[in-house]
Amino acid sequence: MFQTTAELRSAFLKYFEDNGHQVVDSSSLVPTNDPTLLFTNAGMNQFKDVFLGMDKRSYTRATTSQRCVRAGGKHNDLDNVGYTARHHTFFEMLGNFSFGDYFKEDAIRFAWTFLTETLKLPKERLCVTIYETDDEAYDLWTQKIGVAPENMIRIGDNKGAPFASDNFWQMGDTGPCGPCSEIFYDHGDHIWGGRPGTPEEDGDRFIEIWNIVFMQYNRQADGEMLPLPKPSVDTGMGIERIAAIMQGVHSNYEIDIFKQLIAKTAEIIGVSDLENKSLRVIADHIRSCAFLIADGVMPSNEGRGYVLRRIIRRAVRHGNKLGATDAFFYKLVPTLISVMGDAANGLKQTQAIVEKALKAEEEQFARTLERGLVILDGALNSLQGNTLDGDTVFKLYDTYGFPVDLTADVCRERDINVDEAGFEVAMAEQRSRAQAAGNFGADYNNHLIIDAETSFSGYTELTGQPNVIALYVD
Ligand code: ATP
Ligand code: MG
Ligand code: MG
Ligand code: MG
Repeated sequence: MFQTTAELRSAFLKYFEDNGHQVVDSSSLVPTNDPTLLFTNAGMNQFKDVFLGMDKRSYTRATTSQRCVRAGGKHNDLDNVGYTARHHTFFEMLGNFSFGDYFKEDAIRFAWTFLTETLKLPKERLCVTIYETDDEAYDLWTQKIGVAPENMIRIGDNKGAPFASDNFWQMGDTGPCGPCSEIFYDHGDHIWGGRPGTPEEDGDRFIEIWNIVFMQYNRQADGEMLPLPKPSVDTGMGIERIAAIMQGVHSNYEIDIFKQLIAKTAEIIGVSDLENKSLRVIADHIRSCAFLIADGVMPSNEGRGYVLRRIIRRAVRHGNKLGATDAFFYKLVPTLISVMGDAANGLKQTQAIVEKALKAEEEQFARTLERGLVILDGALNSLQGNTLDGDTVFKLYDTYGFPVDLTADVCRERDINVDEAGFEVAMAEQRSRAQAAGNFGADYNNHLIIDAETSFSGYTELTGQPNVIALYVD
């Protein structure tokens, strides 16, 4: 029971509906009215103004299965894909929300009851973190719920370590935030990793499944934390992580959705080793790319569109690595629609546009990919030391349409770094040349845009040369 991802999605929503929550549809991946956010990265985004007391709904409890993309901005997991068992660029976040209704006690009880009674997870496999000074949460977990003190872990703010647990959740640099309490599942001692709060926590043995945020503050741009009008609750559980547990597998990439996407990718490209890491990367990337286009983002040289372009190009490069000779990426869309169930309704309606945009982008990049890879390969083969120079990175970017992160992705496979500072210098020189010629600007997302003959204006015109002419400078 409740094994497939689709069954889990409906079991979760039903559980919270039965507990007085309004089931609300997922919002778009493009946040409406929030220029501070690149993509929707959590279930609470669509309720931000409700938490802030600036918007009112007809309900005070809600539940959603929210599509999220974490491939830029404050939460960026693009570089984790292919390297951890638990990170995707696109995932669905199951969540329950209280807008000034219940607070810590009920939030904790709902989560624990769903996991241990509805899903029947073994309690001894679960451990719980709380914010270091949150004695109230500690007492609720140990006294009301009965979690053994040895399974409780106090965690503070992390000071920017990429993986380290951080029990103070914030959506971005400003906005609603608060201390949180997270539930981890122990996949067993045959897997490397340590409990949260230990140096080995970035392994994949103890996997965070659910974050319960006690939304109490509104962080201002100057860092000041103003109390929210009413203490509220925001929770998020990655459906792929809980599906892995329920399906008795360790990695998210082994669950029903990914098994089918990986099998289809292997069939299209003609790969027999289903464990190949590139298959996982492609299966991950088709989800973010297809859903982003379905939500109205188009590949382009700036802002959101450039992030999308970078993900597509990474997927195409991994396909090339597997031996793909023709456009393959867009052919995964029908399988994606069939494995995503109800979550694919919007994608189904836009299928033709999505496929056409993906195919156009892939074909455009394919024209320079091969030649760029020859240049890159040559540079790597003759490399002294373990850092690729900035001029080569820039040439690949400027002439062959290789976003810097794509070059870095290739280099990482060979344990080589890219000289980002050297790249910046080469880029700055280009910028001043362009500035002198009067065709340079910057968009609100802090990307430089250097206008060229082939600036992008919609997928129907994707026939020009694939100059990549924008760059993240943040
Ligand atoms: P992690 O520490 O594993 O990176 P997180 O603390 O960044 O996760 P939250 O911001 O707390 O994640 O998001 C709530 C939940 O969403 C997580 O507990 C996890 O189940 C899920 N989740 C977060 N990021 C991802 C991702 N990139 N891919 C899949 N699921 C994710
Ligand atoms: Mg994270
Ligand atoms: Mg975490
Ligand atoms: Mg978390």
